[in-house]
Amino acid sequence: MNLQKFIEQAKKANIFYDGEVKDIDSIVDMLSPSRPLLYWTMELYDKEENEIKGGGGLGILAADTRRTAQQLGIPLVVVTPFYTRETHQRLDNFWQQEESISVKPGPEYRQYCNTSISTLIHNVVPLDIYDRTLGSTRIVTITEKNFGELYPGSNSSDHRLYQEVALGFGGYKALRMEGIEALYMQLNEAPTVFAAIARLDDLLRSGQSFEDALKALRSQLLYTNHTLVPAVEGEFTRAQFEHFAYPNILNNELKEWLNSLFNSESKIKLSLLAVELAGKKSGVSKLHARVSDFYDHSGNKVKFDAITNGISRKWILPGIENFYHKNGILNETDLPSNDYKSRLNTLDMNTVRQLKKIGRAHLNHVLRRRKNQYNCPTTIPHDAIIFDFKRRFASYKRPDLLFTDTNRLSNILQSHNAHLILTGKPHPNDEPMKHELQRMLTLTHNDPILRQRVHYLQDYDEEIGQALAFGADCALNVPVVGEEACGTSWMKDIANLKLLISTPDGGVADVQPIACLEVSGKNEAESLYYNMEQASAILRCDSAYRRELIRSLGAYLPIISGPRMMAKYLQLFANK
Ligand SMILES: *Cc1c(COP(=O)(O)O)cnc(C)c1O
Repeated sequence: MNLQKFIEQAKKANIFYDGEVKDIDSIVDMLSPSRPLLYWTMELYDKEENEIKGGGGLGILAADTRRTAQQLGIPLVVVTPFYTRETHQRLDNFWQQEESISVKPGPEYRQYCNTSISTLIHNVVPLDIYDRTLGSTRIVTITEKNFGELYPGSNSSDHRLYQEVALGFGGYKALRMEGIEALYMQLNEAPTVFAAIARLDDLLRSGQSFEDALKALRSQLLYTNHTLVPAVEGEFTRAQFEHFAYPNILNNELKEWLNSLFNSESKIKLSLLAVELAGKKSGVSKLHARVSDFYDHSGNKVKFDAITNGISRKWILPGIENFYHKNGILNETDLPSNDYKSRLNTLDMNTVRQLKKIGRAHLNHVLRRRKNQYNCPTTIPHDAIIFDFKRRFASYKRPDLLFTDTNRLSNILQSHNAHLILTGKPHPNDEPMKHELQRMLTLTHNDPILRQRVHYLQDYDEEIGQALAFGADCALNVPVVGEEACGTSWMKDIANLKLLISTPDGGVADVQPIACLEVSGKNEAESLYYNMEQASAILRCDSAYRRELIRSLGAYLPIISGPRMMAKYLQLFANK
């Protein structure tokens, strides 16, 4: 696909509104391999295709952004660390153990240069830069032997700051050596902000005033926030900055400006820096952009544009994607066609059942390879309904809501011949959720029906996420309302002709009322169980299932589309 053609298609699909179409054209002329969009991220989750494992949604989004850019011919460079240790989960008597293995960039990466950063005590900290080109996109990855794991220690640890400084200053230098200059830069969360500081320092080298340089930087910098409130973020001290960051900055005025941003306890949050440096800011769903609560240094509340996350083709069963194209529901760029809603009426249940069978076969294949809570493969009868809960075990995502009343749960599963697949890891430091996982698996073990019908898959990853999206029947998404920034697994579910049971939160709430089975009311557990009963009945009835699919695809196909997200980002960059 070439970018020009994509922009034409996006205009036809009414992704841009009038008046802003002219600016968008200039982007096409300006973007090139040496003037690309630079996408900075501390996490890229793309193990299957690109040998880099992340931890969750942030990394999955980065990988989907790159994949979609490649599909559309957008010159985009993802700059990301290569972590030299990779963590995996295993269960020991239902208790999570983390194991880390040592990894290095594989043969598909080229080691293209070395660079370095400085700290207060080491003038030269050498960094190895590897890269890989994929169509119009590139992955540039920064590492060294002791780079360590993803998210080591606390948010405010020295090692985190070192990794963040290595990515920002080291990555910027490496690109500069190759003559690559950012036309636009996107910061995928605040810890990548050192890339913006490196850019500003570089702009100042040309002799322009601090004000002019800052203005120039702001016009080309987008900060994409994924957090709701700054409270959960780490803070660094001025001493840490003096040790790790300042030795990489030439311009004294820039250091003074940074100093002026520390609070009275000589601490700083990276989101404050990102807010001050970026002229454009975005949140990852409508609700998130509205409720995120950030302030700039003068105390003004930060306004975020809403660009809801999307997903790439990777997450849609090829047969289903084919079906969308054959019936003109998606156009060739994977944007919904103008009349996609009426075209959804071509949905016939023979085809849907056929496609779901192919998805189930893929899931079965993965279930045979992977371990459940008893370290065994899982087999599920072909005529059983499969519910899934697949997401990090963070307390706000509430995997435990399902276990509020275990008798009720086992009744539902048994009377509808249904199975429940759970997967997701508690964070290594999250002792309460590790206990919660153990408690849920113990309750399951002690109930003869649940023991047969509830399966926990160890070491949740892309393979499991994709297989459940392709092959399960109904997904459960029950975050505490107001706490999920967007979430993308629910998009994978809708796209693959599944039912969704969800609270009205994150990207699901972009549409009001939400267009799936809604968990709400005072007793959310009861509402969840009620909806599981409903879903079971719907899934066993062609006409009800068809109606539900048409409703949710009608509402969510434009939101799910990765190309829609990319078009919106390009538009945001193009706007002066
Ligand atoms: C899709 C996906 C995610 C994102 O999940 P959300 O909880 O919906 O944000 C995380 N991890 C994996 C492995 C995924 O496939």
